[in-house]
Amino acid sequence: MNLAVNATERDLAAAVAEWARALETRIGPAEKAGEIPRDLIAELSELGVLGMTIPEKDGGLGASSLAFALVMEELAAAWPSLAVAVAVSSGIVAGSIVRYGSAEQRARWLPRLTDGRGLGAFALSEPSAGSDAAAIGSTARPDGSGYAIEGRKQFVTNARYAPFAIVFARVGAVDPVRSHAGITAFVVPLDAAGVAIGPAERKLGLRASDTSALVLDGVRVGEDAVLGQVGAGFALALAGLDGGRIGIAAQSVGIARAALARARTYAKQRRQFGRPIAEFDGVRFPLATLASEVDAARMLTLRAAWLRDQGRPFTREAAMAKLYASEMAQRATHTAVQIHGGNGYMGEYAVERYARDGRATTIYEGTSEIQRLVIARSLVAG
Ligand SMILES: Cc1cc2nc3c(=O)[nH]c(=O)nc-3n(C[C@H](O)[C@H](O)[C@H](O)COP(=O)(O)OP(=O)(O)OC[C@H]3O[C@@H](n4cnc5c(N)ncnc54)[C@H](O)[C@@H]3O)c2cc1C
Repeated sequence: MNLAVNATERDLAAAVAEWARALETRIGPAEKAGEIPRDLIAELSELGVLGMTIPEKDGGLGASSLAFALVMEELAAAWPSLAVAVAVSSGIVAGSIVRYGSAEQRARWLPRLTDGRGLGAFALSEPSAGSDAAAIGSTARPDGSGYAIEGRKQFVTNARYAPFAIVFARVGAVDPVRSHAGITAFVVPLDAAGVAIGPAERKLGLRASDTSALVLDGVRVGEDAVLGQVGAGFALALAGLDGGRIGIAAQSVGIARAALARARTYAKQRRQFGRPIAEFDGVRFPLATLASEVDAARMLTLRAAWLRDQGRPFTREAAMAKLYASEMAQRATHTAVQIHGGNGYMGEYAVERYARDGRATTIYEGTSEIQRLVIARSLVAG
């Protein structure tokens, strides 16, 4: 396994890290306002981050999954809300259009993801279909030369910023034996007639990242809105989530790393019983354990990214990385709060935000339980 990235990719990760560190003073107000400032989306575009996973022939940087993982770690270490927004747009949405889009669809939609005016959205979850995504109730009824889409999506990241969303809806009747039958992915412009974006969710964390419902009321799209094949949308969603999980694992590593860095600094400065608390084994041993776990999580993440770059199967490894890294991020952020004592519970200290933001990593793009299901299935298959 060769985990080296090329010089351009290394420079990009370093440039993103530097850019993101300089955002420090903007995070508080943006989290309070519950939005990512538009000028930052434009800056992400200029940096190349929004198109980094898109091949050069389609106007992107053609960066590897390894490089994307490194960039995600840096973004999340600085500002998890921004990292989530980018993970969805540059990861799962751009990746799905690149992989399944026709030449026309790539030419039409990829520039909309990279022009710095918006971020893509992926609308799979519904009020009654989360972990069991094949249970979606949204429908796409053939209508003239296209389809009319009806349904309600929930928890759609970036809905408010998105020029379009990849929307999953079922063509034809529910098949009780093959529940995913008929599920189809559509590229739906969010300014289309019949699309309504619900109010932004109030969340425990990731408050600057938009999470909203999407209501589709007879939204008329042409046949050219079908991404991939009619009826092949469930496989498309699962493939997108496989890759997306590497991004969430990298995000978890970044969150944990940043929270622990703050805990280490604090432990060296804070004095109790006449000495820095970092001198107590009860404080520094958890730091030692978690520093090891952060590195372990990063290695799992980069292994999954490397396998993907090699064109080899990576479903199990991505699930392992996501499971381990996201659960490690819970331990790390909570330990960072604990080491800060009462200050750790206060909004003035960033560890409070990392603990809230990191909580989502064991939930989205498949809960920990679903990762265990994916891993277990692959272990006992055949
Ligand atoms: C901040 C945020 C952003 C999101 N962004 C998006 C987005 O952009 N697009 C999108 O489509 N979705 C998005 N989601 C939705 C997310 O993917 C779902 O919340 C997640 O898949 C879990 O589904 P659910 O919430 O319906 O929980 P449920 O599926 O109802 O699960 C509830 C509990 O039951 C457990 N459970 C369920 N089935 C099993 C099983 N078979 N075995 C064991 N345990 C099980 C789960 O692990 C969980 O603990 C987002 C969610 C959040 C929190």
